[in-house]
Amino acid sequence: MDTPGQSTPSINCTQCGGELHPDEDQIFLTCPYCGSTVFLDKSQVVFHWSLAATLNDNDARGALARWMSGNQTVKDLDKKATLAGKSFEYFPVWYFKRRQGTNETIILQPAAATSVSELQRLPLAAGDLEKYNPSLDSQARPPSVPLETAIQWLSQRQVPSGEIVERALVHIPLYTFKYGYQGKTYTAVVDGASGQVFANIFPAKAEAPYALIALLTAVIFLCLASAPVIGAMTNGAGFAIGAGILLIGGLIAAPILIGLAAWIASKV
Ligand SMILES: [Zn+2]
Repeated sequence: MDTPGQSTPSINCTQCGGELHPDEDQIFLTCPYCGSTVFLDKSQVVFHWSLAATLNDNDARGALARWMSGNQTVKDLDKKATLAGKSFEYFPVWYFKRRQGTNETIILQPAAATSVSELQRLPLAAGDLEKYNPSLDSQARPPSVPLETAIQWLSQRQVPSGEIVERALVHIPLYTFKYGYQGKTYTAVVDGASGQVFANIFPAKAEAPYALIALLTAVIFLCLASAPVIGAMTNGAGFAIGAGILLIGGLIAAPILIGLAAWIASKV
């Protein structure tokens, strides 16, 4: 019952329009009429979803180990790194569905502070979303980035608000791993739904040796290619001799350079 004179803004369910009466400080709500789960951001109400965790602790560790032994990271990182900590939580992201003509895209924006901005690239299909269950409350981090801020961030990225046809809060199961490597601590996040690994900074394969071999290859072939040109300038038969040098030199140099590249790849 509203007391006369008291002007509480009316808050309505996104799904059925039913009037919601949240307690003070209550942000996660279940609509008493239709059972929708919603999130309250100041006076805005948006749907509240979560992604089911399909990975347990061991699966998440396994996903991390596979990523560490993969091509992006330094060789044998899975063996050289020391695990320094692991935590699990449902991390909040703002979910926007953008419609341009018949094309629909989903844009995600972390709804809380994170050192892993790569989370924007999380694979998220609308079909994977489940109604947020209040039993997750103790593991769910509340959003600290207001919805308005996320919408402003979208407009800065040339996404007009008129094209946003759906907005929601999604809690995503995330395992956060801290690990040490050569005296530094790194963070990697494992998506508990897809097993995908996200990291902004990690011990990457060194690129310098590859750049060096590319340069060496370019110099050698440039020298060889100039042989027929120089040959043609000196006398009539010079072009044929120069072309011969190019062909033979190329045949000798190519396997050596390929072998060198393979050797570097095995070391780095
Ligand atoms: Zn409702």
